[in-house]
Amino acid sequence: MSTKKSIEATCPECRGPLSLLITDGLVEISCLVGHAYSVEGVLHAHSETQEKALWSAVVALRETTALVDALSHRLPSDVLEKLRAQVATKHQQAAVIQNIIEHLEPFQV
Ligand SMILES: [Zn+2]
Repeated sequence: MSTKKSIEATCPECRGPLSLLITDGLVEISCLVGHAYSVEGVLHAHSETQEKALWSAVVALRETTALVDALSHRLPSDVLEKLRAQVATKHQQAAVIQNIIEHLEPFQV
């Protein structure tokens, strides 16, 4: 006998919805396209996904410097000044997220 339940979490590999399949006491977690994980495997993979997502946010916040620099000659000085202030804030936010990454603990089973 097997039961299948959807999980309100996404596949670490493709971000598709996950399901939990229990067959004769064995547990498998899989997504719609067929990525399959053990209990330990999905927790490990999800930990990596969390870290990658946070690094992605850090990169997006930091690259605002290059973006505003590239557009600077197209912007009025008052607008550019506001954008540079916002960039400084985004760099502070990136530092906060980087600190979170440095203290992020992966799931351990
Ligand atoms: Zn998947």
